[in-house]
Amino acid sequence: MKGKGDGNMKITKVDIMLVDTKPADGNKWTPVLCRVYTDEGIYGDGEAAMSYGAGSTGAYGTLIDLSKRIIGKDPMQTELIWENFYKETFWAQNGGPIIFSAISAIDVALWDIKGKFFNVPVYQLLGGKVRDKMRCYASQLQFGWSDHKEKAVTNEDYVNNAKKALAEGYDVIKIDFFTFKKNGERFNHENTTRLLSSEYLDLVIGRLAAVREAVGPKVDIIMENHSNMDAQSAVQMGRLAQQYGIFCYEEPCTPTPKMNKYVSDRLEMPIAQGERIYTRWGYAPYFEDGSIQMIQPDIGNCGGITETKKVCDFAHIYDVGVQVHVCSSPILTAASLQIETAIPNFTIHEHHVYNRYDYNRRLCKYDYQPVDGFFTCPELPGIGNEISDWAFEHATLKTTVE
Ligand code: MG
Repeated sequence: MKGKGDGNMKITKVDIMLVDTKPADGNKWTPVLCRVYTDEGIYGDGEAAMSYGAGSTGAYGTLIDLSKRIIGKDPMQTELIWENFYKETFWAQNGGPIIFSAISAIDVALWDIKGKFFNVPVYQLLGGKVRDKMRCYASQLQFGWSDHKEKAVTNEDYVNNAKKALAEGYDVIKIDFFTFKKNGERFNHENTTRLLSSEYLDLVIGRLAAVREAVGPKVDIIMENHSNMDAQSAVQMGRLAQQYGIFCYEEPCTPTPKMNKYVSDRLEMPIAQGERIYTRWGYAPYFEDGSIQMIQPDIGNCGGITETKKVCDFAHIYDVGVQVHVCSSPILTAASLQIETAIPNFTIHEHHVYNRYDYNRRLCKYDYQPVDGFFTCPELPGIGNEISDWAFEHATLKTTVE
């Protein structure tokens, strides 16, 4: 054990930062990170999973508010701090990604401190190893599989990206075939909802069929949809897609329990949902109606390690598998591996193409990448990674709460 261990360790300070990485490929990538300090010299790092889309400055601001509440508290009391955030901030109950990503960032940092205090990787505190390595999939091949973001438009683009991943040892890939039009523009909600024209159905299914033919029957394909469709188009597309052997159909429609059940009832393939579902309270209806077969909680917005572990255990009693959603800096890759190592219902790890980009890799001290399609968990004390000096030096917004 490190520190005096008398149970009186105190949180002294929190650094909060938003890093606008300004990628040359035009991607928007603005991770929100925090470092929690203690009076025993141990610090822990966390992240709010709001690097993309809208809302990173909201998470940054909420992190400042929440950090003020934990100064002087014992960082070992993760359960108490979580419950206080949930019940005493007024807005956490039934809250969404902004408040839960901020809660998550602090919770991950506190678990990092806890692991460092006991001098063990976090997985040892979650029940120990269930497995030595995690099967991994190459995620979001519509953006290529290289060191920068590129558009997959033609069938050949999709096939080439899949082959690149297979050449690295992956035997599972994930693609959102409904992202780019033939001319390279992005589809929008006017294109992807309600009953679809045969033009769009043919384009998407043509891409899927080309990939299936190229990779053969033994490679698993996850069909990603990012909730861009609605229930009608999701069923229409799903009925055509399922004949190609889909490992799971991810976020086919807006994540609401009733419409997810509507889609699930009409298809013969597993449904994944979860990167936009927060806490046990959010997941409960999907488990109760049996409309979800794979959950994808994001440790950085579902409520941190404390809550994600509970959600995964909750899923286990319904025989629901887990693919933790990972689309963040390497801080949350490391934290995700800690949970995935320790839960019985882990199914597969998401390795997002963004993890190949320099502007993401340099945010942290360690750069973990899968080998031959498998990941092993970091064995360093804590979550196993930390924010880099580069990230501290290049923070666009930075606040210290003490
Ligand atoms: Mg997804």
